[in-house]
Amino acid sequence: MKCITIKKGVDCAFMSSNGCSYDGGECYPIVEKCEGCQRVREFEGKIYCNSYPDPAAKWDHGACNFATHIQATVDKSGQVKINPLKASKRAARGR
Ligand code: SF4
Repeated sequence: MKCITIKKGVDCAFMSSNGCSYDGGECYPIVEKCEGCQRVREFEGKIYCNSYPDPAAKWDHGACNFATHIQATVDKSGQVKINPLKASKRAARGR
């Protein structure tokens, strides 16, 4: 169903005929780690993720799996390693 709260017109699984069913009843702005991601969009003067309602939660347990600006890998000890190389390569190509 299309959002009628913050991301007006965007299809969203949390939108229902009773309004937004996500925790708090609306989306949350992006966090610093989201900067550079291609899923970032501005709605009414604030910056949100076009794919997920709570960007901070996506980074709580390592790296966001939807992010387009980083490459995350898990090392042998189970630690998540974030490689921003993708972003710098993209910037070098002028995108
Ligand atoms: S996809 Fe992940 S990294 Fe990109 S804006 Fe959304 S929450 Fe942030």
